[in-house]
Amino acid sequence: MLYTQMHELKNILSLTDAQVEELKQVADRFPMMIGTYYLSLIDQTNPDDPIRKMAIPSLAELSKDGRFDTSGEADNTPIPGLQHKYRETALILVTDQCAMYCRHCFRKRLVGLASKEVASHWQEIVTYIQNHSEISNVILSGGDALMADDEALVQFLDALTQIDHIDLIRIATRTPVTFPERILQDTALLAQLAHFGKRKQLYVVTQFNHPHEVTAQSTAAIKALLHAGCIARNQMVLLKGVNDDPAVITSLFRALTGIGCMPYYVFQCRPVTGVQNHFQVPLWEGLEIVERAKASQNGMAKAFKYCMSHTTGKLEILGGSGSTDMLLRYHEAKDPSLYGKLLRVPLEKDACWLPDNFDASTVLL
Ligand code: SF4
Repeated sequence: MLYTQMHELKNILSLTDAQVEELKQVADRFPMMIGTYYLSLIDQTNPDDPIRKMAIPSLAELSKDGRFDTSGEADNTPIPGLQHKYRETALILVTDQCAMYCRHCFRKRLVGLASKEVASHWQEIVTYIQNHSEISNVILSGGDALMADDEALVQFLDALTQIDHIDLIRIATRTPVTFPERILQDTALLAQLAHFGKRKQLYVVTQFNHPHEVTAQSTAAIKALLHAGCIARNQMVLLKGVNDDPAVITSLFRALTGIGCMPYYVFQCRPVTGVQNHFQVPLWEGLEIVERAKASQNGMAKAFKYCMSHTTGKLEILGGSGSTDMLLRYHEAKDPSLYGKLLRVPLEKDACWLPDNFDASTVLL
C-alpha cells in the first residue's frame, strides 16, 4: 500500500487532528508518498526517529529560506531533461516520480509534481549525446530512475548502450532502500539490466542514509542488482537528526561494505528551500563527523569523498587550515581549468554552504 495523504497516517503515527491538518499544508506543497515497507522501518513510538524524519512531512519545510536550484541545473540544460555540466558526464531526468518523496530532496522543486523538466524528447537527447564524443558516461536520474516505466528505461538503455564513446551508465535510484519490491518482484527489469549490462557497465547509485535502512529486503535488492551484473555504489547525504553522528555513519558504512554497496560520496545537504533549515549540518561540524566516521572504516570504505555540489563544480571538503579556513578541491568543475584546483575558503563556524558571493578565483591556492 502507498500512503499519500496525511490522514492515512493519523493512527499509525499517533497524530492529532490538528497535526494532520498542519502537515497536510506541507504535503500539498511538497508531495508525500511512503509505502508499507519503508513505513515499517519507522519506530512509531519515537517522534525523532531518523526514518520518520526523511519520510514524513514537517512544518520546517514551509520555511521560505534557501532556493530551489542550488547547483545551477537550469543553466546546464541544453535540452529539457538533459543536463551537461561536466564535460564527460550527461545527466538525464527520466522521471519525476519516486517510490518515496524524501523530505530532504534537492530536487524538491520537481519530484512528484508532473514537472516539465523531465525528458520528453528522448531521441533529441540521444542525438545530442551521440554528437558529443567527449561524453563518456550518462547518469539516469530523476526523480528515481527505476520508477520510470520499464518501456522508457529500455528505450534509453537500448540507445545509450549502443553509443561507442559511452563507457558506463549510472542509474540513480533509492528503490533498493525505500521500495525493494520494485527490484525483487520485477524479474523483467532485472533481465533488462543484465541484458544491457553486457553492452556497457551499469552502476546502480543508491542512497542509504541510515543503518536502519539496511534490512534483509534492501540487502536482497542490492544482491539481486549485483547478480544482474550491476555495480552498486552509495551516496549518503549528511542530514541533521538522521546521520550527523560518527557512530551512525560508521555502522551504516560497515553494513554497506558488507553487502557490496560501496560508499562513494557523502554529500553536504544543499541549501534548498524547505530543506536547509531542517537538515543542513554546518560544514565544520560535518567535517569532524565525517573524519571521525572515516577513522573507524576499513580501507575500502575510506575511499568515499565528502563533497558539495556547487554551481561552480563538485568540491571535495578536505579539512581545516588554520582556525577559520577550510581546504576544498574541485573534484569536478564546470570550468575545466578549475579541475583539481585547491581552495582555501574562510568559513564561519556555523556556515553550511559557501557564501553567496563566492568567487573561486579569489581563494585559489
Ligand atoms: S528518491 Fe531521490 S529524487 Fe526522489 S525524493 Fe528521494 S532524493 Fe529526491
